[in-house]
Order: sequence, then structure tokens, then C-alpha cells
Amino acid sequence: MDYRGRFAPSPTGHLHFGSLVAAVGSWLCARHAGGQWLLRVEDIDPPREMPGSAESILAALPAFGLTADAPPLFQSTRIAAYDAAFEQLKAAGQVFPCWCSRNDLAGGLHWDGQCLAAPVEGRAPAWRLRVPDIEIAFDDALQGPQRQNLRTAAGDFVIRRVEGYYAYQLACVVDDAYQGITQVVRGNDLLDSTPRQIYLQRCLGLPTPGYMHLPLALDGSGRKLSKSEHAHPIDPTNPLPALRRALAFLDLPASPLTREPAALLTQALEQFSAERLPHCSERAAG
Ligand code: GLU
Repeated sequence: MDYRGRFAPSPTGHLHFGSLVAAVGSWLCARHAGGQWLLRVEDIDPPREMPGSAESILAALPAFGLTADAPPLFQSTRIAAYDAAFEQLKAAGQVFPCWCSRNDLAGGLHWDGQCLAAPVEGRAPAWRLRVPDIEIAFDDALQGPQRQNLRTAAGDFVIRRVEGYYAYQLACVVDDAYQGITQVVRGNDLLDSTPRQIYLQRCLGLPTPGYMHLPLALDGSGRKLSKSEHAHPIDPTNPLPALRRALAFLDLPASPLTREPAALLTQALEQFSAERLPHCSERAAG
């Protein structure tokens, strides 16, 4: 099968260092495999979105030499496909409505069944996927063998929120299949979402791609970098410093003498192999 990779930013802000690393890593893997690199804007959570962010991210990528093989897919145009997946799960009895409030859930991490007995008139429910006591195992290309008991780790998780928005897990799975993605390369903060996505793929009869989770970028005090973006600004009008740092973060060559982003990427590609990428789960951004 031909390799198809993707970069799937959420338009909640400008491109930051962690997402640049995911973009560079997924682009290099796709180019190294002679495959395609696709874009997907995950704009299905309006309350969290920042106006202009999608445009800003999409405009920044070519400045870093990261060119895609097709126009981006916007998840906001894909609601009918999520509706169809949701109806499929509903028809199979795999989802149920949940009226629990945040307060109801505050005592424990997981839904505990209480709302089944108490639908609230006039209030829309969230919809949860029924999760059996099941172990999901997969081999991550960098993080190695993974195993998660979905019942204890995630419980009956929400796939459609009270406001009617579809959850990231459902939209991601439907669109990875729609875009024909064969390898998902993304940040390690999503490692623990992967078993939920694999389980959803099984419920919906969709293929499971390969997964590679890149180390999470931390700031000097060990916090996830996206929480302190100001310390590591990404400037598309001056792309070389951030691109060099992103390549160095991935243990790839980044010559100080090379003056073009595309040339830096080509040099990294010449020496690229997935084995030489860092296998750790997180590291300082440098
Ligand atoms: N949209 C997600 C994010 O920006 C990434 C989703 C994914 O790569 O699966 O964190």
C-alpha cells in the first residue's frame, strides 16, 4: 500500500514548536517513504478556536518548506460523515445518551452508569461509546509495544458532546480512514488516545493505520511547550532558527550553513531513517 501521512493541527493558535515538530516529523516520514503528505484542519471545536488560526498555520507551513500533496481537508465540512458514523454506532447499540453533569462526574474519572436511570427532560445528552473490559495493544514505531485496558483507562468515553459537537476521537478516526492515512505521526501527548481510536476503528469497520508518537517538547521547567509558547516563538518570516531547532529536536542534521528551509529539509531527508529518531517520550526543546 502506498504510504499516506498527515499533519492535523487544531486551529487554536499559531503554529507552535510542538506542532512544527509534528509537521516536520510526519513530512519527513512521508517523503522518505516516497508517499503523500496530507493536511487536515481539525476545526470542530468552535469554542476553543482562534479566528485566523487555520489560515495562519496553513500559510506558515510552506514558509518552513513543508508542502502538501493536496488541498487541506477541513473537518468543519465533514459533519455529515461524522453523523453517519454516529448513526452506525447507534444502530449497533454501541452508544448511549448520558445526562451526567460535570458535578455528577467530579467524584471519579469515569462515568459510572448513574445517568442511564435519569434522563433530564429538555436537556440534550452527551453520547458515550460503550467500552467493554478489553485490552488494546499496538506497536508504536518509536515508543515500542503499547497496551491499555480501555475500560479502566478511558471508560465509556464521549463521542458527541452536549453541545452537539463531535469529539476529536470520532472525527479523527473517520477522517484518517477517509484520507486513506497509512501512518499517523504525531506528538506523544496523543499516545494514550490511540487505543480509543483503534477501538473506534474496530467498531466502525475501519482500517487501523500504523502509529508513531514523537517525543513531547518540554520547556526548561519540564512543562509541555505549548503551555509556554511565548518562550519559543515560531516566526514564519524567519523560519530557519525554528526549523533548525525542530530538526535538532528530532536528532536530525541541521547545518548552520544552509540558508533555505527546503534545502535543510532535503539534507535531513538524505540522512533520514525512522530508527535514528529519538525514542524517548519527552525531551527539552533546546
Ligand atoms: N489536532 C490535534 C492537535 O493539534 C492532533 C490530532 C492528531 O494528530 O491526531 O493536537
